Amino acid sequence: MSTYPHGKLDLLPLDHSAEGSVARNLVVLHVTAGPTAQSATATFKASVAPHRVSAHFCIDRDGTVYQLVDTGRTAWHASQVNARSIAIEHAAIPQKLPVTDAQYAASAALVAWFCAELQIPCDSEHVMGHDRASPQDRHVGCCEPTLSVAKVIGAAQVGGAGASAMAD
Ligand SMILES: [Zn+2]
Repeated sequence: MSTYPHGKLDLLPLDHSAEGSVARNLVVLHVTAGPTAQSATATFKASVAPHRVSAHFCIDRDGTVYQLVDTGRTAWHASQVNARSIAIEHAAIPQKLPVTDAQYAASAALVAWFCAELQIPCDSEHVMGHDRASPQDRHVGCCEPTLSVAKVIGAAQVGGAGASAMAD
């Protein structure tokens, strides 16, 4: 369906996602627990069925956005909501490496773009962290306090256009 215009395409093999079936109305934010986007992409590529994992986007420490899965397809990142969500990973490590300002700016621009594309409100009911979106995964620490969801939403609400210019 869609490719983010300010991202770099680094698509995973098609067997790391599924065809989309229902309309997406949720953005799920994650932290990778690794130091770089490249390390997260390598983990995704190395994952094997039936435990494959993937995400639509991964934002590197410098704010570079990598798109790994077409937003029309279903990635495997938050078991309870995969079919109706898109996933944004942020290269960061709990307790060690919090999300950077460049990542916040890039994340806000991406969230603003996606909410506009899908015509969904940019609020805490449509943008949330993994642990809240899919509690059964018990992925505590993904993503507060390493990544503040409220900070991303606030910046996306006020700075969508400006922030996306910054992402170039
Ligand atoms: Zn997660």
